[in-house]
Amino acid sequence: MIPNHPQKAEDSARIKRAIEVATKAHEGQLRKTGEPYIVHPLAVKRILEEWGMDEDTIIAGILHDTIEDTSLTLDNIRKEFGESVAFLVDGVTKLSTVRTGMRDIDTYLPATKDNFLRLMIALGDDIRVLIIKLADRLHNLRTLSALPPDKQKKVAKETLEVFAPLADRLNMGLLRVELADLSFKYVNPRRYEELKNLIDKYNKSASKSLKKIEDEITKALNKEKIEFKISGRVKSVYSLHKKLAKHNQNINEIYDIIALRIIVNDITDCYLTLGVIHSLYTPMGGRIKDYIAMPKQNGYQSLHTTVITKDKRIVEFQIRTKEMHEYAERGLAASFYYNEQKLTDNYKKGKIEHLPTNLLWINELQTTAARLREGKKVDLKKLKLNLFADKIFVYTPKGDIIDLPKGALPLDFAYRLHSEIGDHVVGVKINGKMSNLNKKLEQGDVVEILTSKNQTPKSSWLDKIFTPHARGKLRRALKLPDPSNEPESKKKRKPRKV
Ligand code: MN
Repeated sequence: MIPNHPQKAEDSARIKRAIEVATKAHEGQLRKTGEPYIVHPLAVKRILEEWGMDEDTIIAGILHDTIEDTSLTLDNIRKEFGESVAFLVDGVTKLSTVRTGMRDIDTYLPATKDNFLRLMIALGDDIRVLIIKLADRLHNLRTLSALPPDKQKKVAKETLEVFAPLADRLNMGLLRVELADLSFKYVNPRRYEELKNLIDKYNKSASKSLKKIEDEITKALNKEKIEFKISGRVKSVYSLHKKLAKHNQNINEIYDIIALRIIVNDITDCYLTLGVIHSLYTPMGGRIKDYIAMPKQNGYQSLHTTVITKDKRIVEFQIRTKEMHEYAERGLAASFYYNEQKLTDNYKKGKIEHLPTNLLWINELQTTAARLREGKKVDLKKLKLNLFADKIFVYTPKGDIIDLPKGALPLDFAYRLHSEIGDHVVGVKINGKMSNLNKKLEQGDVVEILTSKNQTPKSSWLDKIFTPHARGKLRRALKLPDPSNEPESKKKRKPRKV
């Protein structure tokens, strides 16, 4: 488990130097709060440290506003702090230029009104840019009261629409909740207060019976010798707001205003604990969710169940391991912490293959961003589909989880496993039954690909493929030209080297 990131006893020499440089560069500048400007980059530094980010990211966080707002240049930064820091600062600077509509990024980014998409492409190079941006946004929101009201609303709205969903995509649960609730307070203050009071009231009225439930669970789990930690979790104001909208404002249909969270040592204990809870209380039909076997799209894992207690109270339980809990709260930042070295090395080589497979969308984003920069054609509609469409999780016969976009077909699955498998497909079994290559895969399907050495790729398969990934592999196998390799501006086709 990630230690509680205590403030380091002392900053490294490089970090100290970055603070010096930033302080000097921002000298004389004030924030809207009236404080010296350097307070802001230093706050961003602290947030990144709390998230357990690597030194380069922390340094880039300290310097993130210097290119835009001071006379410091990217060259200065590169010379003093190296390529990686310069790259990150440049990325964060470009990100804000996308938002203020400056030209820089338009030189390679096709005109699209979709700010979310523009933002995503702009940061496709290195997801650490996004993490710095999120830390920046978090501190700006925490100090938003200093801005004039119309600005407050604008920033808050953008956060709700863009940054909070991004935090969710990265499974940074704590951040998502803080961003969403801080923003919602500015976007709809009256509703915020209303719901906050409602939650507080609910919390108070439930606390006695929750205490009783905790005691019962503690006794039962001790008897089974399961080590655990139990705590209550209160729903965030914004997610309650959204859920109420979905349920016609009927609060009686919301069962997870308060949930009890149980954290145990391993997956076996998760399922044992679920059994213990169900032997104590009556589970509600259809409310058991196994996000351990079938993680959410952002990699979130947990067992959820809603039960009716002895005194007829409806309570949701969330059961997970420490690692799952860590990942649910810190998300991508937690992966960085675990894989820091590996990831950093891979970034230097331009690879991010050590990201969890459930974050493959980041990989795709990176590829697209690179293509755009090189002036190659990109189908933005398709990209958007791939980035934001719901994923499904399907299984190999051995039980490995493969994530694919909704709409994927057996050949997509085969090519995802390996091109050698894709090229030699003769048939497919879905959930043990022979099926055909046109059959859309469904969440949870077990897919077995049948192959033969003598099979060769067929051009008719192009109609039986959904993902660009598989299409690219098949086209290569068929030796078809890759249509997207053509620079957008060139009308004439260059002769292809084969
Ligand atoms: Mn900033």
